[in-house]
Amino acid sequence: MKDSSFTPFYHNETDYSRAIEIAPHIWWVGHHLEGDPFQCHVYLIENGDQSILIDPGSKLTWPYTREKILQVMPLEEIRYIICQHPDPDITSAIGDLIDETGQKDVQLVTHWRSAELLEHYDWGLPFHEVQAENWELHVGERHLKFIFTPYMHFPGAICTYDVQTQILFSSDIFGAVTEEFSLFADDAKRYFEAMVPFHTHYMPSTEVVNHGLDNIEKYPINLIAPQHGSIIKKEFISYIIKELRNLKCGIYLEYDGTRKIDLIAKINTILPEVFEAAAFFDNFYDDTQRVLQAMQKAFPISRIFALALIDDSYFIKLDSNYKKVTPCRRSKKEIIEEFSEIFIQQKRLFLDSEMVECLEFEKPHTLYLFPVLDLEKNVTGIGMFALDRNFERSDEMIQMLQKFEIAINVLTKREVEVYKIQSEKEEVYTMAITDPLTGLYNRHYLKEIAPKALAEAQRNLQPVTVLYLDLDHFKKINDQYGHDVGDYILKHFANLIVNHFRTGDLAFRLGGEEFMLFMPNTTKEDGLKIAQRLQEVVKQEGPLLIEDQKLSFSFSGGVTDTIESGYSLQSLMRRADEKLYHAKAAGRNQIFI
Ligand code: GH3
Ligand code: MG
Ligand code: MG
Repeated sequence: MKDSSFTPFYHNETDYSRAIEIAPHIWWVGHHLEGDPFQCHVYLIENGDQSILIDPGSKLTWPYTREKILQVMPLEEIRYIICQHPDPDITSAIGDLIDETGQKDVQLVTHWRSAELLEHYDWGLPFHEVQAENWELHVGERHLKFIFTPYMHFPGAICTYDVQTQILFSSDIFGAVTEEFSLFADDAKRYFEAMVPFHTHYMPSTEVVNHGLDNIEKYPINLIAPQHGSIIKKEFISYIIKELRNLKCGIYLEYDGTRKIDLIAKINTILPEVFEAAAFFDNFYDDTQRVLQAMQKAFPISRIFALALIDDSYFIKLDSNYKKVTPCRRSKKEIIEEFSEIFIQQKRLFLDSEMVECLEFEKPHTLYLFPVLDLEKNVTGIGMFALDRNFERSDEMIQMLQKFEIAINVLTKREVEVYKIQSEKEEVYTMAITDPLTGLYNRHYLKEIAPKALAEAQRNLQPVTVLYLDLDHFKKINDQYGHDVGDYILKHFANLIVNHFRTGDLAFRLGGEEFMLFMPNTTKEDGLKIAQRLQEVVKQEGPLLIEDQKLSFSFSGGVTDTIESGYSLQSLMRRADEKLYHAKAAGRNQIFI
């Protein structure tokens, strides 16, 4: 036996009209069909009048393959034809070959499973069944071994290994779909990417691929000469096998009726990323940003939205581009009417972005809309993907995009839960710090806010004024007109306070008919003016007309500030109360400073 190490002939050859010698006495005699990404390669092992042809090709390519064989040898010298599997694109040329030579003793080298099918061509040729021949073929000095790679993609598929040159003539297992024809792969990573769509749909499962690779890796390999795609140089082989072992295969089975193999392959790789983003919930904004990043590998998508129903009363708007969740400006009724196809028929739709009023876009988009469902499969919202305007609006694309809906469903539902809990918390807190009759803050909030505000004022060397107000003879009003009228006056007075004081001032009802104003960055002189202005308003307003009765009221007040009383809430309140007491004692309807 000759030395098994050899240097393959790598070519930058682009004249594919000629037979190309890829290793000593080993020829590529395939044909590059223009516009066919699925190239079929034919290899010829030159071995005198015992030459071997591997996967001869189809009736379409045979005239070209025939020409190339004739550049190397007469057709009659071919005595063995290897069929690594029995598909018509690699075997249907055999009839034309033997018709021309008239030879009936050419052996068909194949697995019994292929032989059973090839018999039906009725060529009358003898079979050399590899499983019965110790998976070998010896022809003179040539020693070929056959490697069983079942279900890739045929139950009896085999690869052929030339012991002398260590070339692996692979069947589909190292095939790829390449746009540009190149006899040799020039970049391992790029070639593997071209293998991915071929394999994810063509190979039944990752386990099956690994089983075949285990069989192949028992041999040292110098070069891989596949049936489809490009020839793989030695330095790329270990990378490609490693990647191939981890590839998820069999996805074709899950997608019925589509030919977008490239897209399916991409979706296959990004779906786990999308589900991961959805599984570890932060918030709708951050998670949909991650979902977007993944989806952008397969789709021209720029934004994700959801409109979600809250407590059966209104919708909120969730947006991958804005952190803030906002209640929808349009009513629940309007939204359900506008998208009745989604809410009632649970349809998926493509729409121009201009058609959806509650969303704004800088430029026109195509929106893909889908229902967000609850556990009982009721529609509780709409999910939306904003895609490029020229996005293909087909059922096939709906089938692809639908795979991503579940992630958005999960994220929307979680965000709704968070929104509800936060709203409830805010509501409870608002109730806890508000006086229910007047809507002013109550004493709890004063205790919470005043120490912080005083500390800040002290740091900034700013005065704070505290103004105490108390309605005069309020007991009498109650007694004379009834408690409801008393309540009415309290509410009325609270409104006057809110309307006549400045933003930044805080108004409290401390209890009964006692009120307090907390005014940051204000001196007691300014506080006095403000209180007097309020008195003026009450006076100008004149008696109130309640149930045909005229009713006047007045109030008294005491003012102090931090310059006089220090930055302590307690001392400010005590001093203001003392002054109020003096104002009352001095005849009421006046403010003491
Ligand atoms: P003064 O001018 O000295 O302040 O006399 P006054 O009658 O206003 O003061 P007093 O503290 O003696 O009485 C306060 C009255 O306010 C007693 C109570 O009936 C009434 N009051 C307290 N809270 C409410 C309320 O929520 N609604 C109504 N209608 N009355 C209230
Ligand atoms: Mg009073
Ligand atoms: Mg009182």
